[in-house]
Amino acid sequence: MTTKGGSRPGETPDREIIRDGLGVSRGIAIGTLYLHDSGTIAVPELRIAANRIESECARFMAAADNAGHQVEQLQSKAEGLGGAAGEELGYLHDAYRQMLHGSRLIRGVERRIKGERINAEAAVQQEINEIIRGFEAMDDPYLAARVADIRDIGRRLLRALTNTAYRPFTALPKHAVIVAEEMTPADTALLDPAQVAGLATIAGGAEGHTAIMARSLGLPSVLGIADLLAGAHGGETVIVDGTNGLVIINPLPETLAFYRRERAAFLKARRVLARLKDVPAITTDGNRIVLQANMELPNEVGAVLESGAEGIGLLRSEFLFMNRDDVPSEDEQYEILKDVVERMGGRTVTIRTFDAGGDKLAPALGCTIGPNPALGLRAIRLGLARQDLLEDQLAAILRASAHGKVRILVPMIATVGELRATREVMNRVVKRLRAKAAPMADPLPPLGAMIEIPGAALSADAIAWHADFFAIGTNDLTQYTLAIDRSDEAVAHLYNSLHPAVLRLIQFSALAATRARIPVSVCGEIAGDPRYTPLLLGLGIRDLSMTTSNVPVVKSRIRNLDLAAAEALARTIMDQTDSGRIAQLLDGFGEQ
Ligand code: PEP
Ligand code: MG
Repeated sequence: MTTKGGSRPGETPDREIIRDGLGVSRGIAIGTLYLHDSGTIAVPELRIAANRIESECARFMAAADNAGHQVEQLQSKAEGLGGAAGEELGYLHDAYRQMLHGSRLIRGVERRIKGERINAEAAVQQEINEIIRGFEAMDDPYLAARVADIRDIGRRLLRALTNTAYRPFTALPKHAVIVAEEMTPADTALLDPAQVAGLATIAGGAEGHTAIMARSLGLPSVLGIADLLAGAHGGETVIVDGTNGLVIINPLPETLAFYRRERAAFLKARRVLARLKDVPAITTDGNRIVLQANMELPNEVGAVLESGAEGIGLLRSEFLFMNRDDVPSEDEQYEILKDVVERMGGRTVTIRTFDAGGDKLAPALGCTIGPNPALGLRAIRLGLARQDLLEDQLAAILRASAHGKVRILVPMIATVGELRATREVMNRVVKRLRAKAAPMADPLPPLGAMIEIPGAALSADAIAWHADFFAIGTNDLTQYTLAIDRSDEAVAHLYNSLHPAVLRLIQFSALAATRARIPVSVCGEIAGDPRYTPLLLGLGIRDLSMTTSNVPVVKSRIRNLDLAAAEALARTIMDQTDSGRIAQLLDGFGEQ
């Protein structure tokens, strides 16, 4: 095999290229490289007859009106948002509307259609490119940042002209391996595992939502590969080794043969683990552990049931708002949630209210990126700022609760006040639904708090008196405790849930829940990593919720683990100050 990093731009295409990054979703994909340029729309350049100039200009103006109308709709949503976020979005949409009415862009496109006698799509593309070139040449950071807005306007115009809905990934080769600069969680949600074999990107961290979405789709994935695009061409054979964080473009025959064997071995191991489906997750000293699944998309129910998960410990409801420009109605949300609850056949379904914001942007909610997205108007903060949206969603969840066993989970709780305010909104909704005699669970579903902000963990004893259950979100808890952006590949090596501070916060939260006699689970990514299982059990956690595909491997670990020994391990670990030593203790556990 060619040595790692041995090939760089300019290399001949018949040499294999090996790139390394963060293996975020295990398994091996072998397929055809598909270069994804986010949002690019194929634009043919056509000469038009003189007698078509007028109609082409009219077609363009209609597209501009259409795009302007979309922006107006977004604007009215932004106004509803209020506060700084609404104001910021308002400015942005004003700028968009100006660009779409009588601006240099509009005049420039018309001039090109008339002067160069080309079709409107080509004229838009050329004009946008020229404006961008001008902005980039000015070496001004503010103007450079506007380039993204201009591209966005260009895409809106092209979509309107070509009648293309925002649905990338339509003409994929069979077994496509998506290679991209960046994939948003919403882009990733559009990937169909029946068609897509794997994923590789330049941007992204191991605990970001793109990585989580890739895991839930079972797509072998490597993110954070700085030099991924150098030497990558569409149509080439590519291997994604999601277990070891390698991407091999144009592999040599022996490399291909090696990875075919590795892939077969991986799939076989998975089949062996799948046999654990119906056996309980019980430690060697007889302690029963609850294993549940995290769900990102509604079509995962089949896989959840197949995995042997006892319920859904976290249903991330953001999917309801993804890849659309409008907000789903209460009825629409109810129908989708009811279907999930019914198909889970009486097993617990923990539905989290929308956690939009941060790296989970949902245009439908009018989320703005803001100066510091992870610290901005996110999750329940957005829900309490937009109570109309929260009420609709709570109503949908409460109605779905009539069809099974539902729990309601509130993301990003920082204060007791936020949880109380959420309960007040819920009580209001219950009253409204009762007045309409809408069926709901009786007693009402429990209302739980995500513990994922360090401040919430440190006041977990107080929050526990107001919460019916806790779900500890270690992804955000680690991010906020260590000030490491979970989706930024540049600091991914510093992201470490074994930092003593993170472990103390988990321990404190678990203890607070136990003292208040409320259930507590861990639903961050470490819950699905068998490496962490003895530590989490040792810290008193008896309920783990994870990416569906990890349920069997964690169950296997539990069935070979002695809880008393795990508790002793946790005591030793909690005396440590160095995360390197903690990792050693953890990795050495069970090997003596
Ligand atoms: C977490 O933060 O650990 C969590 C489970 O929530 P999410 O990953 O959706 O932010
Ligand atoms: Mg979280």
